[in-house]
Amino acid sequence: MSNKYEMTIGGQTLAADDYSEIRNPANTEEVVGQAPVGTAAHLSQAVDAASTAFQSWKNSSDQDRIDACNAITKVCADNAEELAALLTREQGKPLGGMGSQFEMGGSAAWAGHTATLSLPEKTIEDSDERHVVQQRVPLGVVGSITPWNWPVMIAIWHIVPGVRTGNTVVIKPSPFTPLSTLRLVELINEALPAGVVNAVSGGDELGAELTNHPGIDKLVFTGSIATGRKVMASAAAGITPVTLELGGNDPGIMLPGTDPAPFVEGLFFGSMINSGQTCGALKRLYVHEEDLDATVEVLSGMAANIPMGDGMDEGSILGPLQNERQFKRVVELVEDAKANGGTCVTGGEPMGGPNYFYPVTFVTGISDGTRLVDEEQFGPVLPIITYTDVDDAIARANGTDFGLDASVWGNDVDECARVAAQLEAGTVYINKHAEIAPHVPFGGIKCSGLGVEFAEEGLAAYTSIKIINKAA
Ligand code: NAD
Repeated sequence: MSNKYEMTIGGQTLAADDYSEIRNPANTEEVVGQAPVGTAAHLSQAVDAASTAFQSWKNSSDQDRIDACNAITKVCADNAEELAALLTREQGKPLGGMGSQFEMGGSAAWAGHTATLSLPEKTIEDSDERHVVQQRVPLGVVGSITPWNWPVMIAIWHIVPGVRTGNTVVIKPSPFTPLSTLRLVELINEALPAGVVNAVSGGDELGAELTNHPGIDKLVFTGSIATGRKVMASAAAGITPVTLELGGNDPGIMLPGTDPAPFVEGLFFGSMINSGQTCGALKRLYVHEEDLDATVEVLSGMAANIPMGDGMDEGSILGPLQNERQFKRVVELVEDAKANGGTCVTGGEPMGGPNYFYPVTFVTGISDGTRLVDEEQFGPVLPIITYTDVDDAIARANGTDFGLDASVWGNDVDECARVAAQLEAGTVYINKHAEIAPHVPFGGIKCSGLGVEFAEEGLAAYTSIKIINKAA
């Protein structure tokens, strides 16, 4: 196919006046494709199409909606090879490992599971005085804005619950990784009624157009905290409901005297998943000072055996950073850590070449108060921070505005449970990190988000409660 991708509005693909080049982060000399630069007029057209489609989709039967979700599952499964290759080339993640084939498998699994969820009508009172039922009704047009780290899976997380509950959707993917979403929506449109799912692409300003558009009835946003705040502020105008999945700076606490060896894979991939570009990755590891050397040894040993390279090469397990902005940020945070007494026990310097590769980097010798510990690094860099007292480690883990996930590692189950109970986060893992599932609600507290996704609780966020109260 041509390397030009198009927006889909009202069931039709639509050419734009301008296109931007999307380059491969593993080799920035390679142009992966041309992404349309959508305008405010395209956005309005998409919202109008979604609004028109809503007039009939809101009356679709439950079975129609289940069928639509199953059709999306099939689209993900049937086109996994094409979409995974595109995802690898535009995002950088390897085809194998926890890369783009895994992302396509997850997308199909999430869509399939969401098809099975339901929010049935509930009888609240059936008495001599009244008959009261509670229904869950769709909100209207869902505006979805997605980031560049897991573009297809997050698109599915936004689109499918919307469709399942009788809403219609306008999605705007990240300007860094729009191609796989544009193609996904084009394929979904072969199976769904026109206008139920629409895609526009463009820069951050198009995102702002979307959040400010009066025709949007629900906003679902996944991205940074800074942008999340703007989305929430825009939503205030129309009192538009929002679901916000924002940044994380997940702490992990290893209990004193824990042998790190049995946990090394969980610690390594819990932090390095997608080269650390995962909201819910382990981003700071607290270990007792006496366990530091053993922890550094096992993690460094593992790093030496994990190939990082072009995602299209079969042997690659980790890929590059996705874009120049993120690459520069990771370099800056590591340089700042070094300037503040940090030691890179692995990595610590960019790999060089026309790409955004940065090696797996474990940093010791720094603590809270250093940027690499306090901020979200979103890269393959993990600070390993020492403590002497567990309760102090808990206080430091909690001493942040982030609250996405946290983890406790150790063999004493009671102590793990005690620490887990103290940690302030939407999810606390024990002896693992970064494991999400479509039947388990997921979301952050504090500045890491508002509301949850997945399971019935996530689905409910795409509906409002309607009460029918009948005289007996
Ligand atoms: P970002 O906030 O820069 O961009 C996300 C999206 O918002 C993009 O589509 C962008 O074009 C759009 N956008 C930018 N400015 C906007 C505005 N003013 N109004 C409306 N839309 C606007 O985030 P990013 O750099 O793409 O993604 C990385 C961040 O996303 C990290 O902080 C990461 O932790 C977070 N994230 C969170 C989750 C989660 O589930 N909690 C999942 C993935 C990523």
